[in-house]
Amino acid sequence: MCLAVEFLPDNLLFMWAKTPEGASLFLFTPQLSRTEFVRCLKDGPNDSSFCLNDFYFTGLEQVYDWGIIYAMAADLSCHWNVPCPQVFCSNHISLAGVTICNNDGIALCIILRSDLHPDRQAESLVHEMRHIWQYNTNQEKYFSNYRPFSELSGAYEEKYTEYMKQEAELDAEAFAWAFLHHEYKTPLNWDTHTDEINQIIEMRAREYLERPDEYALPLSA
Ligand SMILES: [Zn+2]
Repeated sequence: MCLAVEFLPDNLLFMWAKTPEGASLFLFTPQLSRTEFVRCLKDGPNDSSFCLNDFYFTGLEQVYDWGIIYAMAADLSCHWNVPCPQVFCSNHISLAGVTICNNDGIALCIILRSDLHPDRQAESLVHEMRHIWQYNTNQEKYFSNYRPFSELSGAYEEKYTEYMKQEAELDAEAFAWAFLHHEYKTPLNWDTHTDEINQIIEMRAREYLERPDEYALPLSA
């Protein structure tokens, strides 16, 4: 579990903490470099100087009602029999959502961008949950040639189109659109990408709704 926060005691760049429920929490400042971030996370909460058992980050309480969001993630993880990660919000990510995994590919947490409309956060959460399903179902198919956004180069729009055309992204997005359309009557096309990508995803989403079993799309009756 990790969370980007603006201020840490004594200008620390990172620290391990515990929530009142006893879950480990990795707090870090946005200034922590990516390399340091990965190193610290791998090391785990071993350095006792950074372990404050009673530390409590009140920011978690300030997020709006998370009931629906959590229930959605829990339902999907139950249906697919994959672990349900913790869900956090942060302003310090550029994509709508990211999933943080450990070295074994186990999803530790999903971070959603906090400045997005709750609908978009929900969409992003379902999208990220689908990545967890992909990883647990067919790593070869979805991730053998997968390139994270940060590894692509070029102008932003070009980069984004290339990123979204990957099988893992098309499937995750089509799944989210189809699922939310059926369950929450959202529009089938969210119009959040280029026209070309929007059309590809909408077409797929329709296919998923026609043959939900084939695409592991859990729909309520
Ligand atoms: Zn994705």
